[in-house]
Amino acid sequence: MPTAQTPVAIVTGAARGIGAATAMRLAADGYAVAVLDLDESDANDIVNNIIHTTGRAAIAVGADVSDESSVEKAITQIADSLGSPTVLVNNAGILRDNLLFKMSADDWDSVIRVHLRGAFLMSKAAQRFMIGQPYGRIINVSSTSALGNRGQANYSAAKAGIQGFTKTLAIELGKFGITVNAVAPGFVETDMTAATAERVGMTFEAFKAASIAEIPVGRVGQPEDIAAAVSFFASKDAGYVSGQVLYVAGGPGQ
Ligand code: NAP
Repeated sequence: MPTAQTPVAIVTGAARGIGAATAMRLAADGYAVAVLDLDESDANDIVNNIIHTTGRAAIAVGADVSDESSVEKAITQIADSLGSPTVLVNNAGILRDNLLFKMSADDWDSVIRVHLRGAFLMSKAAQRFMIGQPYGRIINVSSTSALGNRGQANYSAAKAGIQGFTKTLAIELGKFGITVNAVAPGFVETDMTAATAERVGMTFEAFKAASIAEIPVGRVGQPEDIAAAVSFFASKDAGYVSGQVLYVAGGPGQ
């Protein structure tokens, strides 16, 4: 169990990809970490990795961020086991890509629910603890797709929505010592981009090579690149930075 002084971070969608790297990074930064994902058992590997690599406390939490009662249960479990959360990273996400004329209403709703409703429910639940401290850091994961991307009307709308949500929370919560910022990744090598390669009928290697040709730094991003930006926004030193969107894309974004 952590001492009462150990700050607590929650990372959603943390069983793999960017969320897993972020959970590892925040543990290395000194946080006890709630590794939240849809299926609790999927989060166990990262929890064990955190405990063995950093010696920090970590728990696996199974929750659907788009479901209000699931979120309430998760927040209570985290506060009871680790303590009041001071950092929340809204990272959980899904893709349901298609061109507009082929996109079903279900695919629209699912993406909006997980990214936008999920960030809303988690932030609303977490800020209750943060305002009492009064201190907090909320970091939302947007995307370069917020600027528009073919085949992603649902996802780009959600990721642009995340940016407006971020700026509004920054305005509302600043007086409680809570900063709210967004990280907007470009291409990052994860299961999500591997699934996109499969959907468009390319090998992942060919898909990455095609992307690299458009990325000024000449490589694709790794989950740790995004975790490093989250780590900055989560730090005490970033206390005068709020309502910002940082593109982490190996270049300006688009
Ligand atoms: P990923 O590998 O697909 O991981 C996403 C995680 O979120 C999965 O573990 C998934 O669980 C979980 N999740 C999905 N729906 C959830 C829900 N309702 N409640 C709780 N957890 C849920 O994706 P990633 O590439 O790491 O992406 C992480 C975030 O970065 C996403 O918001 C994504 O949109 C954003 N992003 C990624 C890229 C990129 O190039 N990879 C670029 C820009 C932005 P399951 O495995 O059970 O589905």
